[in-house]
Amino acid sequence: MHKQSDNLFEKSKEIMPGGVNSPVRAFQAVSRNPLFIHHAKGSKIYDADGNEYIDYVCSWGPGILGHAMGQVVKAVQKTCENGLTFGAPTEKEYILAKMVQERMPSMEMLRLVNSGTEAVMSVVRVARGFTGRDKIVKFRGCYHGHSDGLLVKAGSGALTQSVPDSLGVPKDYIKNTLVAEYNDIASVEALFEKEGKEIAAIIVEPVAANMGVVLPEKGFLQSLREIADRYQSLLVFDEVITGFRLAAGGAQEYFQVKPDLTTLGKIIGGGMPMAAYGGRKEIMEMVAPVGRVYQAGTLSGNPVATAAGIETLKILGQQPEIYEELAQNTKKIADTIREVFGDRVCVNQIGSLMSVFFTEEKVIDYKSAVSSDTKKYAAYFNDMLGRGIYLAPSQFESMFVSAAHTQEDLQKTIEAIKRIGEKLINLLYK
Ligand SMILES: *Cc1c(COP(=O)(O)O)cnc(C)c1O
Repeated sequence: MHKQSDNLFEKSKEIMPGGVNSPVRAFQAVSRNPLFIHHAKGSKIYDADGNEYIDYVCSWGPGILGHAMGQVVKAVQKTCENGLTFGAPTEKEYILAKMVQERMPSMEMLRLVNSGTEAVMSVVRVARGFTGRDKIVKFRGCYHGHSDGLLVKAGSGALTQSVPDSLGVPKDYIKNTLVAEYNDIASVEALFEKEGKEIAAIIVEPVAANMGVVLPEKGFLQSLREIADRYQSLLVFDEVITGFRLAAGGAQEYFQVKPDLTTLGKIIGGGMPMAAYGGRKEIMEMVAPVGRVYQAGTLSGNPVATAAGIETLKILGQQPEIYEELAQNTKKIADTIREVFGDRVCVNQIGSLMSVFFTEEKVIDYKSAVSSDTKKYAAYFNDMLGRGIYLAPSQFESMFVSAAHTQEDLQKTIEAIKRIGEKLINLLYK
């Protein structure tokens, strides 16, 4: 029963493109109408028709503690009463910045902004300002927000010109964005051999989680560090997803590779719009008003968002065991899928990030990720939804497990996977 959601969707489509404010929410990849959410609590999300689901989207990552966590909500309420925004510095901004810096020592200085897109956009400008170079290297299948210079895909054939990944992105804007293949160091070396002296930075998701979850192969991140050093380019980790999720100190702690610059988002706002970028002091001192790289924001470091971020990081800091528990719980789900579907699928999991790809290939990069049969994923998604389990409505997104997921939730999820497994195998593989 999704009558209310369907009604709301029809009305919304009249006034917003696709009825949504961010495309993946429209559920196009799974060929059905989206659910309109009424409220959420803990691990559960409730739609406009009152249906309850175990939520594994968790707002695409911020919800590591689950929904409407009492302590976070209280901090937000209390802050609201004292004013929503001042456009002037507050102590809270210092407290949050300090908390981030203690967890990620590579961020000697940082700045708070409002979205991951903004953080990446700004960090690229800083990298260019610092090095005096224009080009950047990104990886096919990695997502860094929707700014012009990063909505880029590789042209056909290696080392050809990159092309815009969206209408409205001028070719001129992206001529400085070079595209390499994830987990393929040779593709990075090739770009640097040709244009290394013009490359300001390599930007990478240390664990790719926007083409489904793709883990860095052993040595990949270290090699990027080494190449960046060799050419005096900067290494930027986009930790918008992995920051505070893979470990307290993010992927840079997990893999012990130190980037020059880092972007954060999602968890840092505890569910409110908040992001950050930062890194080595001498680089960050390029930013205005100290330096001549301009970046600003009316609502940057907003007190309400900052309060939610502080409380979330505080709770995570008080429970360092959380990461091990999340990893174990996520692995249980991953192992169940492997058991049920066998080598018909590739399951990639690390910490509380997981994807199942409906392909027999080992998924290590964009090419192998898109070998997945998205129709099979859609069937799996729809069947799980029918059993009260809300997964990412796209093959190319991660599953997010939160600290609010109980053993009962996991058991229910595992049972659902086992039950649909046989059905889907009969249906899809005959
Ligand atoms: C979500 C995401 C972004 C963009 O963040 P927004 O807040 O949606 O603008 C950037 N980089 C990565 C790795 C992301 O997952």
